[in-house]
Amino acid sequence: MDHYCVLGNPVEHSKSPLIHARFAELMGQSIAYTKQWVATDGFSDMLAQLQADGVRGCNVTVPFKFEAFQAALHPTERAQLAQAANTLRFDDAGIYADNTDGIGLVNDIEHNAGVRLAGRDILLVGAGGAAAGVLGPLLASGPRRLVVVNRSADKATALVARHRAHPWVQDLLQKTELLAQQIHAVEGDFDVMINATASSLAGVALPIASHVLKPGALAYDMMYGPAAEPFAQWATRHGAVARDGLGMLVEQAAAAFALWRGVHPPSGQVLREMRAALLPAA
Ligand code: NDP
Repeated sequence: MDHYCVLGNPVEHSKSPLIHARFAELMGQSIAYTKQWVATDGFSDMLAQLQADGVRGCNVTVPFKFEAFQAALHPTERAQLAQAANTLRFDDAGIYADNTDGIGLVNDIEHNAGVRLAGRDILLVGAGGAAAGVLGPLLASGPRRLVVVNRSADKATALVARHRAHPWVQDLLQKTELLAQQIHAVEGDFDVMINATASSLAGVALPIASHVLKPGALAYDMMYGPAAEPFAQWATRHGAVARDGLGMLVEQAAAAFALWRGVHPPSGQVLREMRAALLPAA
């Protein structure tokens, strides 16, 4: 039986084993998927150990996504843009690394929420690891305008500059106006706003004006569960349609499963099941 795992610190809260077990069950595949806590200075030793043990691949969560990228001989373009990886596959030729967070977000928005991104105006709030992971795939979805803002403005500017400088992005910039702006002085309004900050996790309001939301805009929080509710209430109060990050979580896992197993699992079904399980009992 092929063995996979998720590496993190902390990792106890991870829903990845549950999601991958359900994918495997629905696809009639037999895999083992476990959680693995890693000491903050123990990531490279852990990778060596996993490969020696014949583990086929792993997901990587905080704080190791940057180290995971560094460890890879073969990173995908989207992992290079993010300079971070959340999915590793251990091949004979070395470690293959991908970042499936961005495609997970795009698939959730386009397929599960039914909102097309091509030609739309998108506001990405945040410039940490999660924002870096999704900016390339958001650009690849062909929006008209993509504006990045962050509490620390210099990080948003640096993230946009790094993407602009990457050869893979040059063609994409023909279609998309890519900008960094000040969070307190965002110009215009947007069809889709994505909260890629840790504000919901911290239990504080996002420091941004509600005029950024067009009527009926999609307001997406990468957080999910009760912590995402204040953002959802803020968005709904200002005429937007709120969505949390549970679908992104399931879709990034589906893209990882496809990379390892060669088939895309029924992610929509698993998302519906997880959503139902998260609802408070009546
Ligand atoms: P990082 O620590 O790398 O970055 C945090 C970001 O949040 C920075 O842009 C930071 O701004 C900003 N921030 C933190 N606190 C506040 C605040 N009070 N007000 C405004 N901005 C704030 O974290 P990640 O990027 O890795 O994660 C961000 C969020 O995304 C987390 O909540 C995480 O759970 C979620 N996530 C969800 C995923 C999913 O599958 N659904 C996948 C990955 C992440 P500054 O630079 O100014 O400090």
